[in-house]
Amino acid sequence: MPSIHLLSDLLINQIAAGEVVERPASVLKEVLENAVDAGSRAIDVQLEQGGVRRIRVADDGCGIAKDELALALERHATSKIANLDDLERVGTMGFRGEALAAIAAVARTTLTSRAEGSAHAWRIDGSERSIAPAALGAGTVVDVADLYYNTPARRKFLKSEGTEYAHCDEMFRRVALARPDIALQLAHNGRVVHRLPVADHARRVAALMGDDFLAQARALDADAGPLRLSGFASLPAYSRASRDAQYFFVNGRFVRDKLLTHAVRQAYTDILHGQRHPAYVLFLELDPAGVDVNVHPAKIEVRFRESRAIHQFVFHALSRTLAESGAALAGRAAS
Ligand code: ADP
Ligand code: MG
Repeated sequence: MPSIHLLSDLLINQIAAGEVVERPASVLKEVLENAVDAGSRAIDVQLEQGGVRRIRVADDGCGIAKDELALALERHATSKIANLDDLERVGTMGFRGEALAAIAAVARTTLTSRAEGSAHAWRIDGSERSIAPAALGAGTVVDVADLYYNTPARRKFLKSEGTEYAHCDEMFRRVALARPDIALQLAHNGRVVHRLPVADHARRVAALMGDDFLAQARALDADAGPLRLSGFASLPAYSRASRDAQYFFVNGRFVRDKLLTHAVRQAYTDILHGQRHPAYVLFLELDPAGVDVNVHPAKIEVRFRESRAIHQFVFHALSRTLAESGAALAGRAAS
């Protein structure tokens, strides 16, 4: 009979990486969200070879103190929650404390960081865990190179550079749409692809979705008690053959949720026919206690406590906006 033994920390983290680090875009998501959680005003992303060769994210956030750098790379180590109560009303993107540990287990990872008030920065190597002084003005630089260099079985599942890059670009767009208050830049193989200054929501949406989308979309901002729905939804004329321009955020987090998709679809039933799909960027805000984000390791799925009320609210708010614009358009055509 084989004997039972504890797995090594490295192997535990490599197993966890199977859930958290599916591809370069998932690394980018985790590292970007950490930069957002650190209160950054500006974030710079550099990718090489679709993110497989390198993902480097520099931010100007709060930084990590020297004596916490090693801890940041440990599994189940986080500064974001401390107890169950925090978990039930979490306001940060991260809270599981597993991303950096998982990433460092499957890629050559370094963290360079200068905590506020520190005389200079420090760098930690993700595999040796050695710490050395480094030069950095402020904030944190996370450098993730050669993804899956030590796990060849997983490396085989990576797609072409172009495909992996497209996933990274999509991930970047999600964060950028949700946070127009942060300046963001993305470069791929040394070429700047997105340069997004701090803007209001409309300007950030136009920068990422195109001026035509904004011109043919209706803005909405509705609230009902603790629920608020804002953003932009396309008029039928802008409808598309695919679902590629649909963004729904819940408390700033991009989600794919059947209930929300259904509510949106239903609001369009009378005005959008056949195989056409609307384009939208919608933000639902509610009390964090009303939504469980701890359902999925990448947190792309959520669970609402009052799902019926949310469905109704989204459906009504959106139908009303679309109906008003329909009436306005009909009125314009008649005059
Ligand atoms: P989580 O985000 O769930 O806490 P992570 O493994 O992603 O877990 O990060 C671990 C910890 O490292 C975070 O809680 C945070 O304290 C620190 N950290 C990671 N990235 C940054 C960053 N860019 N700036 C400041 N602190 C960071
Ligand atoms: Mg995190």
